[in-house]
Amino acid sequence: MSDLQNTDQPQRPGVVVTGASGRMGQMLIRLILDSPDLRLVGALERAGHDWIGRDIGTAMGGAPAGVAVSDDAVTAIAQAQAVIDFTAPAATVAFAELTAQARAVHVIGTTGFEAEHLAALKAAARHAPIIRAGNMSLGVNLLVGLTRKVAAALGTDWDIEVVESHHRHKVDAPSGTALMLGEAAASGRGAKLADLRTPAREGITGAREPGSIGFAAIRGGDVVGEHDVIFATEGERIVLRHLATDRAIFARGAIRAAIWGQDKGPGEYDMHDVLAL
Ligand code: NAP
Repeated sequence: MSDLQNTDQPQRPGVVVTGASGRMGQMLIRLILDSPDLRLVGALERAGHDWIGRDIGTAMGGAPAGVAVSDDAVTAIAQAQAVIDFTAPAATVAFAELTAQARAVHVIGTTGFEAEHLAALKAAARHAPIIRAGNMSLGVNLLVGLTRKVAAALGTDWDIEVVESHHRHKVDAPSGTALMLGEAAASGRGAKLADLRTPAREGITGAREPGSIGFAAIRGGDVVGEHDVIFATEGERIVLRHLATDRAIFARGAIRAAIWGQDKGPGEYDMHDVLAL
């Protein structure tokens, strides 16, 4: 694989982007190619993808970047100092084994993990830093802190509901961000979300369980991501809201995390660590 763009500053950490043709993958690659802090050393896609072997820059409709899209994750990750990964849970777990072997920073934006995936990531984090967040934006990570504070200040006579909207292609619900916000609300109440969580309602559900945290998801069009945390009691409501209008906010957060992670030891980190919130 050639590396035309980066002969000037070889000391910049080399980064591999997984899911290179995806919405987040393409956004990340554009920003990394413009970054003074990182150099793109690999763009991965699944075996059989029609971009394999093509220059990533031209495949995205732009100028050549000097990096060919590859399905050989072992070789690409072996030469990387960081891997930025917005794909799918099973793929992310497989990439985590390779980043652990390469002692590379693994920045994970993928959402929708089950317990078994999380256990595998924890094991990989014994060998290299993993920075994972259901939402990499500064605004949402601030909202998480505010949600925890408001939930701690209000009694259980205030009902908490998390409502999120996303584009029509999103495959998991509730969103990783909605779950982060639910966790924050639960921890503000000194509890775990698993004990308070009420999934989307339908049919004769009975009255609302006091102290529970409810979730609702809307899917449609090209919505980048909208989250409301609603605190409602008799006679008044507080709504904390974040609106994402450009997915570059997530990519910028991930790039910041890849740089931040360069001098960190093995372990699991999140955007609160990166942003020092
Ligand atoms: P997308 O456009 O569908 O892109 C996903 C990419 O991953 C595609 O290139 C896809 O390849 C690839 N991929 C999926 N499964 C794979 C596998 N098993 N092996 C290799 N590659 C695989 O989705 P997106 O909108 O970019 O979102 C990707 C993930 O990031 C989702 O989990 C989403 O919820 C999450 N996300 C997180 C944040 C955050 O801030 N944390 C922000 C936005 C999105 P194919 O096209 O071949 O399937």
